[in-house]
Amino acid sequence: MRKRSGPTEATPCVVLRVVDYGDADRIVTLLSAAHGKISALAKGARSSRRRFGAALGAFGFGEALLEERRGQDLWSLADLSVTRGFPNLPLELSRFGHAAYACELCLHLCPPHVPEPTVLRLLVALLDYLDGLPLSDKPSPLALRIFELQLLLAVGLGLQLYDCAACGGPVPAADLVPLDVRRGGVLCESCFLGPIPEQLGPQGGGLPASLRDLLAQLETRPLAPESLADLSVSPAAHNLLRMLLQSLIQQHLGHALRAVEFIAKMNAFSLEPPG
Ligand SMILES: [Zn+2]
Repeated sequence: MRKRSGPTEATPCVVLRVVDYGDADRIVTLLSAAHGKISALAKGARSSRRRFGAALGAFGFGEALLEERRGQDLWSLADLSVTRGFPNLPLELSRFGHAAYACELCLHLCPPHVPEPTVLRLLVALLDYLDGLPLSDKPSPLALRIFELQLLLAVGLGLQLYDCAACGGPVPAADLVPLDVRRGGVLCESCFLGPIPEQLGPQGGGLPASLRDLLAQLETRPLAPESLADLSVSPAAHNLLRMLLQSLIQQHLGHALRAVEFIAKMNAFSLEPPG
């Protein structure tokens, strides 16, 4: 339960979004360790650049000094110090796009005022991976798939892979199992009547055993360079993965994300495998 008022307290956080507020202030949305996603008023952040310095830039990881304002949803940001700046993210477009997409996902999928230590760790791991890549390398789109799957799982929106999404009963291994994205996962024999579709589309269909195993594997895979390096997924399987996750995310959000359009536009100008 969130307290109605409280003293100033420090918490690790990542800046998800900053918007101007009036002539002098800014509103900052943070993913914090202690309170999950919260919005805070950064007084004077617009009128005086020195007030928060570079700390209010995108993607900064640091410590926020927050004050709860009695009876108000918007907290007050007393101070923000950045301990990890991810300086390489703005230097190359695809990693910037991937980082912006990850922050946008957290912004829309994390409920406010619910502590999300797993999501914060996951986001910092992705930003670390993207920032640490040599500038000549493109980021692996599989890092985004791992991020999406583990984020959905952490906020309670994961795809049900082994228990029936309708009745909760077990769905045994088979070459193809029925998957219904709208219901949130695979279905058992009693809940899915009729022949299992051979094809898999954005709303589901027949989920091949290999893709089911891959989804389960990526849900627990550490998001780190060495873990990504020994992962090999065919372009066809990756396309299916991306389609499923995009449709699952859009269903939960009810709209498309700006960063998805950005990544799609970027891919249109690139011969690299799509993100
Ligand atoms: Zn069932």
